[in-house]
Amino acid sequence: MRSQLCWFRTDLRVRDNPALANALASGPTLAIYIATPAQWRAHDDALIKLDFWRRNLTELENALRKLNVELLFFQVTDYKAIPPLLQQLLRQLGIAHLHYNLELPLNERRRDDRVNAACMEEGVTVSSYNDQLLASPQSVLNQAALPFKVFTPFARKALRIIHNSPTLYSEPVTAEGNLSTFGSIPPLAHQCRLADIDWPQPCQQWVQAWPAGEATARAQLDAFAEQRISTYKDMRNIPSLNASSQLSPYLNSGIISVADCWRNAQKYSDNAGVETWKNELLWREFYRHTVHHFPHVCMHKAYRKNTDHIPWRHDRSEFDKWCEGKTGYPLVDAGMRQLLNSGWMHNRLRMVTAMFLSKHLLIDWRWGERWFMQNLIDGDFASNNGGWQWSASTGVDAAPYFRIFSPTRQSHRFDAEGHYIRHYVPELAALPNKHIHEPADFCPQDYPVPVVDHGFARERALNAFRKHPVRKHHESH
Ligand SMILES: Cc1cc2nc3c(=O)[nH]c(=O)nc-3n(C[C@H](O)[C@H](O)[C@H](O)COP(=O)(O)OP(=O)(O)OC[C@H]3O[C@@H](n4cnc5c(N)ncnc54)[C@H](O)[C@@H]3O)c2cc1C
Repeated sequence: MRSQLCWFRTDLRVRDNPALANALASGPTLAIYIATPAQWRAHDDALIKLDFWRRNLTELENALRKLNVELLFFQVTDYKAIPPLLQQLLRQLGIAHLHYNLELPLNERRRDDRVNAACMEEGVTVSSYNDQLLASPQSVLNQAALPFKVFTPFARKALRIIHNSPTLYSEPVTAEGNLSTFGSIPPLAHQCRLADIDWPQPCQQWVQAWPAGEATARAQLDAFAEQRISTYKDMRNIPSLNASSQLSPYLNSGIISVADCWRNAQKYSDNAGVETWKNELLWREFYRHTVHHFPHVCMHKAYRKNTDHIPWRHDRSEFDKWCEGKTGYPLVDAGMRQLLNSGWMHNRLRMVTAMFLSKHLLIDWRWGERWFMQNLIDGDFASNNGGWQWSASTGVDAAPYFRIFSPTRQSHRFDAEGHYIRHYVPELAALPNKHIHEPADFCPQDYPVPVVDHGFARERALNAFRKHPVRKHHESH
């Protein structure tokens, strides 16, 4: 039997893992994980997310052991070091076939191209699988065989493909255990124990808030589907309620597959909540396809190139106030403090805070994108970049530039009783509802005055965009 190698990346699970299942079906399998701390820093991966990976790798190692698969750990600096490392491994271990699940951003694709070339030199077969997507980017195209640039027609076409996909309407792929053992493994360069990798200092608060493991993720999905999905459409925008699934960290690290989430939602009768939730999974899909088709967004460039001429401000002091949750706008500050306290932020607040930075402060959206990545446990290039470019009106199917959220109106609409604000901005806890959204004259001493006037900021942003109009032809689909 030919030896198989399964390379784990952001797919840290055994269930519904096509790379693992196919490797095990093809012969004795060994699994590897390659840590790249310098790359993590270059990509601004948050410490809370790295710790989450570490904890999930422990779970994965145990789960693989039950399948009689050994998981070996390696540490190198960055992606550049991976092709030579793998080339050496393939030789030393006599590997015939490498399996991995695809990652979509540009650096990951370039890394994989180099790995594929190295495998070819060694005469090793490579198989890659689309486990992060519901439909392949090559299949969701318009009539001219071009990628969609607008969400609604994208979703319509994607749904047609999804409904005809046998894998999404059957049982998830299951990995059978290794029948024959892999054989003895010689000492290998850069091999280490999981604990020897340069992980950040663990923090008890992270462990409690975001427990690791596939079983946890599945239990969370089941609880959401049974108790909250039916009210999701109406409740999901209220940040003080725990109305969304909070599955994003698990989905992005691959602790649960998106296909499994889709299958699970299918089980519940068609109601508005289920449909709205599936629509959010399609937004995730849309941004992943965007990264695939328009890789310039991976190079710190706006999707709408013309918006790169907007005179984005680089005011460090105002940016710091935004980061710390000290803008003087209570809802914005509550969102930014939720991020700092928990490593996660409610979707409504991600939109409000991102729009505040890019429109009210007219600060370069890339600064905000980076801050989110540095702090989010679910930081994910495609969704984060997509969300930021939506908010800054620079992206595919973005918010029109003239639609500028008023933070005070958003606060009245989505946190009418001030529960969310009081939780994260305790200085304002004693204020009555009528003043909590706009404390102004009632402001306690320790709460800042607004960093900018709403009316002035709105006009400034509108003028900046009007001088650099978005080219229409770029938006058609
Ligand atoms: C500025 C900005 C930055 C963002 N950064 C990220 C990020 O780094 N990582 C990330 O996963 N999401 C990001 N999002 C999208 C969204 O805020 C989160 O996916 C969502 O809040 C996660 O909570 P949940 O798991 O409870 O989602 P649910 O409401 O339960 O939705 C289920 C899943 O659908 C996907 N999803 C939901 N909304 C969106 C959306 N608007 N765009 C793309 N996918 C979506 C997520 O995978 C989510 O887990 C960002 C949004 C904005 C506006």
